[in-house]
Amino acid sequence: PKAIAKVPLSHRVTTTGSNVPESISSFSDLSSRYSIAPQLLRNVEQNGYAIPTGIQAYGIPTLLESRDVTAVSPTGTGKTLSYLLPIFSLLGSPSSSRDKKSKTASSTSSAPSGSGIRALILSPTQELAAQIYNECLKLAQGRKWKVVLYSKATGATLAQKDVRDKVDIVVSTPLRLVAALQEGTIELNNVRHLILDEADRLLEEGFLEQTREIVSSCTHLDVQKAVFSATMPAGVEAIAKDILSDPVRVVVGLKDA
Ligand code: ADP
Ligand code: MG
Repeated sequence: PKAIAKVPLSHRVTTTGSNVPESISSFSDLSSRYSIAPQLLRNVEQNGYAIPTGIQAYGIPTLLESRDVTAVSPTGTGKTLSYLLPIFSLLGSPSSSRDKKSKTASSTSSAPSGSGIRALILSPTQELAAQIYNECLKLAQGRKWKVVLYSKATGATLAQKDVRDKVDIVVSTPLRLVAALQEGTIELNNVRHLILDEADRLLEEGFLEQTREIVSSCTHLDVQKAVFSATMPAGVEAIAKDILSDPVRVVVGLKDA
């Protein structure tokens, strides 16, 4: 039998911001309130996630309502699913299948205007990025999502435009992505969802310049942005505020902060 991680459910949750969406008390709330794909909910269930954690209860509906988010919640409280589930839902269908549809719909052979990476998750280390990638694979089960963990090897494959046009989600460290941007082997102009995970590290000296370059390369007019972190020092929060627009702030376990 599969081991189910113990996630504390009793954390105190504080929210601030305008029109904060109502929290969910179960994952099935999502199918009545939002039109979440049944397959996606099945994947959540099959991976042993029965009850949403505090950050998930507030973070998931907020992101599903296309809001920007500042999320602060301790390590091990399920921040990853908080943003991955909304991303998969908001993306709707895999790029590869949209591609097919648009080809039958029109006679042109050019790529559809909405092609290219649509969601980007930044992580400070390759090891954490790999963990996020694995969570992606769990949620991707049963559909032809193309999720890429950016590395030397996958980066070389993505240097081919026709390959990266079919990518839905990229998980990467800032360093590798900035190098690709500078080489011109990736473009982020179609990114609609940008997540900074472990934002306290991504927005501190050392990473800040690279993270800023990536954020400013996501040039689509309508980019949903979210920062997730276990801690949010004041300096980091100020930078985050600058990047986000009208964010909802969700803080879990304020007592220990
Ligand atoms: P964080 O990013 O906040 O440190 P993770 O997203 O890495 O936390 O999740 C920590 C662990 O909890 C993982 O093993 C994950 O699979 C598990 N988990 C996440 N959400 C739930 C849930 N709702 N119920 C049970 N386990 C969960
Ligand atoms: Mg995490």
